[in-house]
Amino acid sequence: MKDISNKIREIAQTLFKEKKIDVFLGWEKGALDFQTVPFIARSEADARKLVFDEYSIHNLATLLLKFRDGSEKIGIAAKGCDSRSIVRLLEDKQFARERLHIIGVGCPGMKDPLQAIGMYSGLKKQQGDGNALAAKCYECVQPNPVIYDDLVGSQQPSRLTGERFARVNAMEQMNADERYRFFEDTLSKCIRCYACRQVCPACNCRTCIFDEMKPQWVGRENSPEDNMMYHLVKASHMAGRCVECGECERVCPVNIPLMLLNQKLIKDVNTFFGPYEAGMNYVEGAKPPLSSYSEKDPDDFI
Ligand code: SF4
Ligand code: SF4
Ligand code: SF4
Repeated sequence: MKDISNKIREIAQTLFKEKKIDVFLGWEKGALDFQTVPFIARSEADARKLVFDEYSIHNLATLLLKFRDGSEKIGIAAKGCDSRSIVRLLEDKQFARERLHIIGVGCPGMKDPLQAIGMYSGLKKQQGDGNALAAKCYECVQPNPVIYDDLVGSQQPSRLTGERFARVNAMEQMNADERYRFFEDTLSKCIRCYACRQVCPACNCRTCIFDEMKPQWVGRENSPEDNMMYHLVKASHMAGRCVECGECERVCPVNIPLMLLNQKLIKDVNTFFGPYEAGMNYVEGAKPPLSSYSEKDPDDFI
């Protein structure tokens, strides 16, 4: 991955030198091995700190939202999942494509720094030889960038080994009562920290429904009912928009299987409105399902 690091650094420095960008969104190294963190470079000198290594797992697309109201030209490094998120932001008209210079990276799979922190602190036992990838990377269907101006690294094969939607298929075998009890039990563990919302590139509303107080649409109590409401509303807002970056599930401190809900919606959107996979293909002006309205839309269910 050293070659990829060098290449990203070199391209970013050139972009700064030629005044083609004002900021570059990438990763920098912290003090410890697993501390590779998102970094905003603002100069050619800053760009020397950019790295890409086995812990460059964070989806940088969410950082773009910090700049949506400005006019800066932005460089960004993007793995497969990051690039799908950028497409979603472009489709949501959060950015003009001309403001972005995207360095696409064929992603060889990442390790999860949260697992590494657990082991480093002694709170978790090391599983296997310590070379395992993050769980989400074993379900990755798109490790290669879908939109880019420069491409670095080699093309990578899909890392999905088992059946896609295996967890969803198993859940669909439950009857309605079993499913209700499963979700009531699972979601009651949620501590409403909103980490899953903060990391999500598809959560780009300026005022989030969960923060609004007048009216307060969703209760803030840590109760099974309010938790259920939070997750139902968030999941429905993700329908047709989730790009399967898996960051929400990865950062959840209480290990709620959020991708189960997201993948159920991905599967259903694909079945009812598809074939469609969010963020796979950018066509300027094209609207994804559930983002457009026609008077001919069937409305029997309303
Ligand atoms: S989900 Fe795919 S693109 Fe994203 S970090 Fe994992 S392997 Fe890379
Ligand atoms: S819901 Fe989760 S997997 Fe989907 S885009 Fe948001 S953070 Fe990524
Ligand atoms: S990250 Fe986990 S605990 Fe926090 S709000 Fe999301 S589901 Fe709940």
